Amino acid sequence: MHLRCGACGATHPADRLVIRCHCGGLLDVVIDRNGPIDRAIFDRRLTALVGAERSGVWRYRELLPPLPDTAIVTKPEGNTNLYEVPGLAAWAGVSRLVLKHEGENPTGSFKDRGMTVATSHALWVGASVVACASTGNTSASVAAYAAAAGLPAIVFLPVGKISAAKLGQAIAYGARIVQIRGDFDAAMALVQEAARRFGIYLLNSINPFRLEGQKTIVVELLHQLGWEVPDWIILPGGNLGNTAAVGKALAELHEVGLIGRMPRVAVVQAEGAAPFYAAYRTGFKEYRPVHPETVATAIRIGDPVSYAKARRTIEVTGGVVAAVSDAAILEAKARIDRAGIGCEPASAATLAGLRALVAEGVIPVGASVAGILTGHLMKDTDAVMAYHLGPDAETHPLANPPRVIDPTPAALEELLSEVL
Ligand SMILES: *Cc1c(COP(=O)(O)O)cnc(C)c1O
Ligand SMILES: [Zn+2]
Repeated sequence: MHLRCGACGATHPADRLVIRCHCGGLLDVVIDRNGPIDRAIFDRRLTALVGAERSGVWRYRELLPPLPDTAIVTKPEGNTNLYEVPGLAAWAGVSRLVLKHEGENPTGSFKDRGMTVATSHALWVGASVVACASTGNTSASVAAYAAAAGLPAIVFLPVGKISAAKLGQAIAYGARIVQIRGDFDAAMALVQEAARRFGIYLLNSINPFRLEGQKTIVVELLHQLGWEVPDWIILPGGNLGNTAAVGKALAELHEVGLIGRMPRVAVVQAEGAAPFYAAYRTGFKEYRPVHPETVATAIRIGDPVSYAKARRTIEVTGGVVAAVSDAAILEAKARIDRAGIGCEPASAATLAGLRALVAEGVIPVGASVAGILTGHLMKDTDAVMAYHLGPDAETHPLANPPRVIDPTPAALEELLSEVL
């Protein structure tokens, strides 16, 4: 195993954390494989009740960095459900949609899949402190995995921009929390500086070991589909680490023969935080960071770190990038919630984007689509309250405000006569 720079091709050792190449380029983990991979080994591990094989990440360890068992920190993550959702498929306008709910991970987002691999790598290389900048979910995951590994953690958060649930998780798991007067991108610049100057182990998705773990979203998805490749995989894009991981996973699965063809990848951004979409529209000739603004705080990112790798995903899979409004995201979220599944706002960009891409004729009605829901409903109950009880609730088609009545049989009868 070694690290390779995607920009200049230089190689670096994998037994320490190198954050970027000396040329400034992003690094990839390159794993030397010996021979083909037999799918049956993944099936056999499904029966494990304890240990790393129980993890929906480490089950696929032939596709992951070869770290020793003694270094592995697992909670165990993954094993997230795949929901068949005909009602939402009809609303989006496609014949078949499955949603893979990554909010069902231990801390409530897909970030845990990357964190188990990167935290294990941190232990293996002897890191003494770990750190990250975060829009919320990364900090919750870092705090939990650092606690499990017995490592101190520092998280850098933009002050006032994190949902109470996510901040509460990081506090409760015992991370040291630094709130920055600035946005996520400012927090990201500062944590990289801290990592360079003080030798702190960085757990942001610029860390290529995070992306190795996140590859298993797609691996587990395809395993659940019996290795039947859908026409499209669709997911939200913020810092674009996940987009990068999805592309790397698909390329590697294809290379080792676990899949016979590539699905196309669609990445959805929020209109107010859509630098990747804007670059895509120029054929990736121009790229400009933006000042991000969106209700979907997990993708409220103006200068995505993994831009170059995400671009490769779009190119390799014949993918597309879309942007959707906050109103469209919130309506899609309300529909996913009403289906009994639920997710946080950023995740709903998946469904809103699918609907928009079908309406534009980019994704055909007959397509089979797998959507990724990235975070749990309870990650952002403020967004739920704002939609259903806020000042504009009346304009929201699915608003479901609680009713208040006097504790009398007459009042109850009046209410029930409307319901029954
Ligand atoms: C981190 C996150 C995203 C964005 O993923 P990127 O890899 O940064 O593009 C989307 N949704 C949720 C819930 C997240 O936590
Ligand atoms: Zn380089």
